[in-house]
Amino acid sequence: MMQLQFWGACGRVTGSCYLLSVGDSHVLIDCGMIQGSSEDEELNREPFPFDPQRIDAVVLTHAHLDHSGRLPLLTKSGYTGPIYTHQASRDLCRIMLRDAAYLNEMDARTESRKRQRRGQPEVEPLYRQADALDCMRHFRAVQYDHPVEVAPGIVARFRNAGHILGAAFVEFELRLGDQHKRITFSGDLGQGATGLMGAPEKPGPTDLMILESTYGDRIHPAWSRTVRQLRDVLEDAWKDRGVVLIPAFAVGRTQELLLLLHQHYHDWKLDRWRIHLDGPLGVQATAIYARHAGILGNDAVDFGRDSGFQLPNMLFTRTPAQSQQLNKAPPGTIIIAGAGMCNGGRIRHHLKHQLWKPETHVLLVGYQAPGTLGRRLQDGTDTVKLWGDPIHVAARIHTIHGLSAHADANHLMSWYKSCPNRPPVALTHGEPQSTEALAGAIEEQCGIRARIPRFGDRIKLQQL
Ligand SMILES: [Zn+2]
Ligand SMILES: [Zn+2]
Repeated sequence: MMQLQFWGACGRVTGSCYLLSVGDSHVLIDCGMIQGSSEDEELNREPFPFDPQRIDAVVLTHAHLDHSGRLPLLTKSGYTGPIYTHQASRDLCRIMLRDAAYLNEMDARTESRKRQRRGQPEVEPLYRQADALDCMRHFRAVQYDHPVEVAPGIVARFRNAGHILGAAFVEFELRLGDQHKRITFSGDLGQGATGLMGAPEKPGPTDLMILESTYGDRIHPAWSRTVRQLRDVLEDAWKDRGVVLIPAFAVGRTQELLLLLHQHYHDWKLDRWRIHLDGPLGVQATAIYARHAGILGNDAVDFGRDSGFQLPNMLFTRTPAQSQQLNKAPPGTIIIAGAGMCNGGRIRHHLKHQLWKPETHVLLVGYQAPGTLGRRLQDGTDTVKLWGDPIHVAARIHTIHGLSAHADANHLMSWYKSCPNRPPVALTHGEPQSTEALAGAIEEQCGIRARIPRFGDRIKLQQL
């Protein structure tokens, strides 16, 4: 028996999880967190639809929580085997899973306090920092392009996906008796045109491809346009003698921004600014990007290796006390801080102190989910509440769209077409309209009918 079962990222972007079985070997590919509304996130508390103790190995495509975020829950539920991932992804997981656990603990504490006041029982965090640390002991670091037998009959080869540091698409060779099959998981693919990440490698021939479809219905603006937009906002902000606030994801987006500022340091006259990277997660992630700079895009290798992504006039602020000093930041200060959607983190303090000033510029450089503070700012709200205080939004809010770490519809299509055979394909990791748009394009251009699996569906690989 050779089969694949879909246990996540079906009809949605988050919660990636697949179970690959070859004879008696069972390998889990990704074990991601479901992210979104609080109703959706409750699903993370459901027991796994398989027995964690029967899994022989986990293969993790990359460190983003929608792929890695339930691993501590898996080890807590009795999984004792190895977790194979690229060594850079292991380093990123060490800080990201711990941060996720810390946030779980904080959320549970707040919720428990509320419940206590109502006379209801307390809630447990999904997992604790100790669980995340324990999970890290299972990690086995691998490199790109070095095949490794993760379980009897299942060999995995990690290849550079160009998405975030360490991200891989994984090509499996499966053997059972005299039967031989190949299956490829795209993980998340990069857009290939950024300075930070190189383009994804081209996939080899395969019998089945599992392809992400996050932006299956969208085309990103040209990179050059995105860069010009960033330049114009900084120029306007300088003329307004304002402070620039950039809420940015600590992993990936922050380093992409630092590279852009480095590349345009002279032509954008950035030496007149003071730049702060505020927050321990962003600082730690940047150090990990620098340590593994060799696998980044060509433009980033030297900057990472020689300067550790450091700009001459940039300060790393780690402690809350250092961060509080920025409340009195003078005009001509750029502050990069998490969280990327302003739903937590240090950026909220800066927004509280700056949003009401008309000379402030806020630069939204990533996706803003509905319901987040970032999305409300993007939609043009004129008042926000921070720690119960209403704050008038007088600042100028800009959205820069093109900095995505994800392939758009054209990139996904051409990556699929670059596979030497035109394999059967199953589309996951997308909202239904994106997935269906990509399925339509594949059928029209390649004559291949893409599958769109639902939660729990299985594909018998021998029948391919
Ligand atoms: Zn990702
Ligand atoms: Zn993802």
